[in-house]
Amino acid sequence: MVELDNLIQQLRTKDPYWNKCHPCKNKGKCCIGANPSFSDKEWQDVIEYLDEIPKDDYDKLLENFKHNKLCPFRTESKCLIHKVRPFNCKYTPFQAVYRNDGKIIYSMTTDDCNFKTVVSEPNMNFNSTENFIELNNFLEKRSYLLINNWVISNNLLEEPEKKATELLNSYFAK
Ligand code: SF4
Ligand code: SF4
Repeated sequence: MVELDNLIQQLRTKDPYWNKCHPCKNKGKCCIGANPSFSDKEWQDVIEYLDEIPKDDYDKLLENFKHNKLCPFRTESKCLIHKVRPFNCKYTPFQAVYRNDGKIIYSMTTDDCNFKTVVSEPNMNFNSTENFIELNNFLEKRSYLLINNWVISNNLLEEPEKKATELLNSYFAK
């Protein structure tokens, strides 16, 4: 994860626009409707973390879960598991994912954090081994984190991934 943290920091230096996310200036709006995925290891970290969180936070999580909130860890003021949030939460909304068909999928974002998911044309002139890529974001260009090499080199694509809702079902069933 250290490598990912460093890359996100480099991205913010390259494109200070993303400083709006550190700390989040819009109440975690981009997490509304997210159902994040966890590897086994990531979920183990969450379970250990949940043993320590303040009771109010735990109660909020339980309430979100009972009301089928997506994401169940989101509150108006914070992510309840921010410290141990998974890989796919850490790279959102900075990510541009390079797909096998040569296309790149990413989200354009407005200043007030409305999103539009875009799939690029496959013949873009870019270097898929780079960590960053410039892409259109409505009327301007933005730098994004290109998700390819380090995902593969960390074998993260090989790990089984389960959704938060599914994992919490088992967690609260115990
Ligand atoms: S994109 Fe997401 S993390 Fe960034 S400021 Fe908006 S709501 Fe917050
Ligand atoms: S786990 Fe946290 S960072 Fe991830 S989607 Fe939910 S609220 Fe957002």
